Amino acid sequence: MSENSNGMKKIYVTRMIPESAIEMLKNNGYEVDVSKYDGVLTKDELKNALSEKKYDAVLTLLTDKIDGEIFDAVPSAKIFANLAVGYNNIDTNAAKDRGVTITNTPEVLTNTVAEHTFALMMAIATRTVEGDNFIRTGKFKSWEPMLLLGSDLTGKTLGILGAGRIGARVVHHGVRGFDMNVIYYDVKQNEYLEKNYNAKYCATPEEVLRESDFVSIHVPLLPSTIHLINEERLKMMKKTAYLVNTSRGPVIDEVALIKALKENWIAGAALDVFEHEPVLTPGLTELSNVVITPHIASATLKTRVKMAEMASQNIIEFLQGKEPPNKIKI
Ligand code: NAD
Repeated sequence: MSENSNGMKKIYVTRMIPESAIEMLKNNGYEVDVSKYDGVLTKDELKNALSEKKYDAVLTLLTDKIDGEIFDAVPSAKIFANLAVGYNNIDTNAAKDRGVTITNTPEVLTNTVAEHTFALMMAIATRTVEGDNFIRTGKFKSWEPMLLLGSDLTGKTLGILGAGRIGARVVHHGVRGFDMNVIYYDVKQNEYLEKNYNAKYCATPEEVLRESDFVSIHVPLLPSTIHLINEERLKMMKKTAYLVNTSRGPVIDEVALIKALKENWIAGAALDVFEHEPVLTPGLTELSNVVITPHIASATLKTRVKMAEMASQNIIEFLQGKEPPNKIKI
């Protein structure tokens, strides 16, 4: 691995991250440059920043679109460590062609995302946000027997699309916390979930959509999962069902979802991610049967620190000539 003129290996970080992760890199004797702009860099800004020095590694965020042009702006960097478990923001084929290693941050965020999934599920079912708005706008005059009636979670059918790490943790909370019955669809069957949580495998997403009271999405964003939830599939859901998405926005056709929510094909939706993030599809924020959070499902302080330190650890081990622990197989 080539060293720079001052003998120190150089690392570029595309936005400020928890300080301990930066310290880890500095403590290993690396020179660390963090983008001075506290925002998402445009492609040109990122290319310019990366061409300034012969960087050996780049620490990226899910908001950075990393393609061949970006890799070519910094050919000295043979590792891009993404601070996220999802890596749909990175063109892995372009990385493979150039021999660039890509890493992610799995596991450390699993429980936090699963908990946020339940925060959303409970918020939409118990009409928490509507209730909050009701008080703030001065409408709360007395306890009312028929005010903002919602739904329980306990004993309901929870349908999981994508029963990987996060999906499985959502199953755990659903079964152990709320006695939910679980059905799931995944491209591979999960015997652990079937044995330990009595989860029932469905051979198609349609089966999950038809039978569930709550549908929670945990697939990665892939060509096969874009618009996994479309108009046709929304129409299959129960009128009383809720849809929760903490995976990636483009998994849902948002125009179709807005139509479904407006016309009450389903009871509600709770979303942490959006199809054209951070831009919202017109109409979404006008609906009362939707709860939205700004892509914060992994955002507890403890978890964000762990994610950042994991990304740094991947860089450190790579620069030490080892296989980084969270290398993506491409
Ligand atoms: P994972 O790889 O452990 O699980 C994904 C599961 O989806 C796997 O079991 C896989 O077999 C399944 N799958 C793949 N393609 C499928 C398809 N076409 N149909 C059905 N199932 C399919 O990943 P994970 O750690 O559980 O994370 C899941 C996703 O959650 C990430 O890829 C990321 O995009 C998203 N995520 C979002 C946030 C957030 O802040 N909102 C945080 C973390 C992760």
